[in-house]
Amino acid sequence: MCYKQNLQLHNEYGATPKLRAAQEPKQRKNKKPIALMSFQLVKFQPLLFFKENLLLLLHYSHIHLRISTTNKDFARNVTKSAHAIRMNVEKLYDTIIVGSGPAGFTAAIYTSRAKLKTIVVAGTQWGGQLMLTTEVENFPGFKEGILGPDLMDNMWKQAKRFGAEMIFEDATAVDFSSKPFKVTVGSKVFEGKSVIIATGASAKWLGLESEKRLRGKGVSVCATCDAAFFKDKKVTVVGGGDTAMEEALALSKFAREVKVIHRRDTLRASEILQERVFNDPKIEFIWNSTVQEILGKDRVEGVRLRKVDSNEEFELACDAVFIAIGWKPETEIFKGQIETDQAGYIVAKDTTKTNVEGVFVAGDAQDYRYRQAVTAAGAGCMAALDVEKYLEEA
Ligand SMILES: Cc1cc2nc3c(=O)[nH]c(=O)nc-3n(C[C@H](O)[C@H](O)[C@H](O)COP(=O)(O)OP(=O)(O)OC[C@H]3O[C@@H](n4cnc5c(N)ncnc54)[C@H](O)[C@@H]3O)c2cc1C
Repeated sequence: MCYKQNLQLHNEYGATPKLRAAQEPKQRKNKKPIALMSFQLVKFQPLLFFKENLLLLLHYSHIHLRISTTNKDFARNVTKSAHAIRMNVEKLYDTIIVGSGPAGFTAAIYTSRAKLKTIVVAGTQWGGQLMLTTEVENFPGFKEGILGPDLMDNMWKQAKRFGAEMIFEDATAVDFSSKPFKVTVGSKVFEGKSVIIATGASAKWLGLESEKRLRGKGVSVCATCDAAFFKDKKVTVVGGGDTAMEEALALSKFAREVKVIHRRDTLRASEILQERVFNDPKIEFIWNSTVQEILGKDRVEGVRLRKVDSNEEFELACDAVFIAIGWKPETEIFKGQIETDQAGYIVAKDTTKTNVEGVFVAGDAQDYRYRQAVTAAGAGCMAALDVEKYLEEA
């Protein structure tokens, strides 16, 4: 007996992939059984079915398989395998947003609300830098302030409400060399007509256990964000570059005294910033010293320092420690695909556009100057609007 079935696995751009049993009119006429599969070629995976008539056609970026068989089990197996392969090739999205801080989630709110098919590759550490803090007092709309994790949870739910899909895994690779763009997440490949990079940046930390334990309890990496909490208090800043000097100057507007702890006897900071800190009566320096431990059980109470030359240790009482030893943009996976500057920040032209048409950037992955939740969210909004315009014109 002849097994009569046509099977089609369809995954063309814009079409919803579905597995369906259907008879091709031509085949029906010839009464010839056939399994027909079409799926996009992302990476070639050999099929181990050579028993019967197998025709493999490659054209454009699609593989078409045409199998005529009288063997019911064989047809079933082919279908299963093709389905398994398809599982690696995900749907085509209008936009793929990589990163899930204020920039990524704001972009997702805008694109999904504009009915663009959106997926956020949120990462395993989703929510971004605000997940590391407690009170956020300068994000507009929350007159009493809001906890960082609560703010990010709200943003996530807001984007989800408009239909944005999320995957809580890290993007491991991207391919911007042809369209649609590809974003790999482990074994899955997502395709997007456009991409928004919103992977943010990470502060460099000293790597002390006590520093981790007291984050948000007096340990900070952002004076613009947290200086106001330390009015008339004693604070320390760790570092000797531009960032540390800017943090010290921002803190001196609030704190009673600011002590800058630096492991060398000279600063790396620019001349102009050095001049400003040396002229500020509230700012003092502790040279040639490193932080060994941040003291305090539930809140910062001081630091234990060690002299670099003599190894002598001593303690210093303070209410806060601002770590200002640098930032690292999270842009490793984009290297070679997109223009970055020497420090690894993605170069944006004309607000959110990158050098690859259809790929946009928002937030701290590009912005080393403002580094604020509200500016990242604003940039996310701009990137989403730029995506909308780009797709309309494409
Ligand atoms: C401790 C602390 C306190 C702060 N307090 C304030 C404050 O009070 N007010 C304020 O305005 N700003 C504050 N900031 C700054 C603010 O958090 C940042 O400017 C803002 O979060 C930047 O947003 P972003 O979306 O660009 O990136 P981020 O918040 O850095 O988010 C990027 C996200 O992308 C993810 N990601 C990275 N790589 C990948 C990948 N390959 N695949 C998938 N996902 C990836 C990351 O894990 C992260 O979740 C603070 C920052 C810190 C560290």
